[in-house]
Amino acid sequence: MPHTPSPDLLKRLQKLLGPKGYTDDADAMAPWLTDWRGKYHGRAAAMLSPATTEEVAAVVRMCGEEGAALVPQGGNSGMVGGATPDASGTQLLLSLRRMNRIRSIDPAARLAVAEAGVILENFHHAALDHGMRFPLTLGGKGSATIGGLVSTNAGGTQVLRHGTMRALVAGIEAVLPDGRIFDGLAPLKKDNRGYDLKHLLCGAEGTLGIVTAACLRLVPAATSRATAWIGLASPGEALSLLRRLDAALGRQLEGFELIPHACLDAVLRHIPQTRAPLANDHPWYALVELAGDAGDDLETALQAALADALDSALIDDVVIAKNEAESEALWKLRDSISEAERADGPALQHDVSVPVDLMPRFIAEDPQRLSAAFPGVRTVSFGHLGDGNVHHHVQPPADVDGKAWLDTHGEDVSRLVYAHVLELGGSISAEHGIGQMKRDLLAELDSPARLAALRGVKAGLDPAGIFNPGKLIG
Ligand SMILES: Cc1cc2nc3c(=O)[nH]c(=O)nc-3n(C[C@H](O)[C@H](O)[C@H](O)COP(=O)(O)OP(=O)(O)OC[C@H]3O[C@@H](n4cnc5c(N)ncnc54)[C@H](O)[C@@H]3O)c2cc1C
Repeated sequence: MPHTPSPDLLKRLQKLLGPKGYTDDADAMAPWLTDWRGKYHGRAAAMLSPATTEEVAAVVRMCGEEGAALVPQGGNSGMVGGATPDASGTQLLLSLRRMNRIRSIDPAARLAVAEAGVILENFHHAALDHGMRFPLTLGGKGSATIGGLVSTNAGGTQVLRHGTMRALVAGIEAVLPDGRIFDGLAPLKKDNRGYDLKHLLCGAEGTLGIVTAACLRLVPAATSRATAWIGLASPGEALSLLRRLDAALGRQLEGFELIPHACLDAVLRHIPQTRAPLANDHPWYALVELAGDAGDDLETALQAALADALDSALIDDVVIAKNEAESEALWKLRDSISEAERADGPALQHDVSVPVDLMPRFIAEDPQRLSAAFPGVRTVSFGHLGDGNVHHHVQPPADVDGKAWLDTHGEDVSRLVYAHVLELGGSISAEHGIGQMKRDLLAELDSPARLAALRGVKAGLDPAGIFNPGKLIG
């Protein structure tokens, strides 16, 4: 069990980090003590913001001596309360945001080394300045940091082709719970010295190490891109379209997002400067993106594949972006869904995955099960169909006090959803992680063998439990 930091420890930390790196001012800390969705509110003894790896190591060693708890935080855009300290006021918030240097970009090797606090969107721009692209993006790109993305093994909208964060990490530098620096930045293609520590740190949610920098894989900046917004009848049709495009276009297919009309409607109501891409409403939409090299005529290829789908009535309507600005406008609709949905009122969010082929069945059957048990609930499913990952949100009945209803029934609703997911062989967390939101669920629903292994790894690396207690399995 971690201990309350002593006044002496706080004084030593303050001296080590200086005024830019240490605060216990309530107003300065406030924005970082509530998570993005506003679900979790914590307190902290102080917020520590080291500027170098050596400072992080010194902080960890000092805290380790007393067994004081550290809660690592990047952009605080996570969805499961993983970066929010508990309410005791005894934990120390460890912000990595000052470590925001891009140490190197090597277009020839297709690699870059970025510190933990580099914001994803800034990293995209820096890579583009070198004619390269970092092929992972998500709606929170303006806040999410490299350290947070590594630690949640983030996904996003390009996983179909490029994989999750883990696939893009070639090396990691991190501070381990005993204060030692693990320098694993060398981008070795072959390295069979046993357990792969860098992969262990991907998705560890700050429970095993403080990521201070990562060596990341880049791809050449796509010189051609084609984006289409497609109206169709159901997730089943969307899956058939995905299979057809996959067969016709192969690796050029980079994104395939499924969006119900309710989500588009929420975006149009809440997000300024958005408009419906098609003349008529459709029950479902697919947002499809191809990316390729200079010589590729992607637009023609996409047009041909979609004309075929229109002829066979697999899809109902389509618009293909004519230029970069139109592509961006279509992606803005997708990337704004979380924000619009947050503005739309209370809902229970479930980030789940099932085998891709079973996704249409899950999306069709789950609302029926929920309505039978909780009359009047509304279900919205959107997300990454190609990865078998949907964000499955359940809204309370329209005629009740939504927040009170969710307080009373929320847990039972979620239990029903997760039971269905497990019945179909899926996962209760596809890309957002476990954090504090799903910690108890994981302990209850995961297999004993897997849980014992996870706990063994945690106990082996962090026996005093000082890294992010109360999260994941802590
Ligand atoms: C609008 C919106 C859309 C989103 N869309 C997606 C999406 O499509 N796919 C997806 O996967 N996620 C998505 N997210 C969630 C979020 O952006 C990701 O989880 C992201 O990886 C979090 O990064 P962060 O820097 O904000 O981390 P934080 O929220 O600060 O932290 C997340 C977790 O990582 C730990 N952590 C942070 N930094 C470090 C570090 N340096 N070392 C060790 N541990 C650390 C924290 O303790 C916490 O457990 C979205 C978020 C928003 C707001």
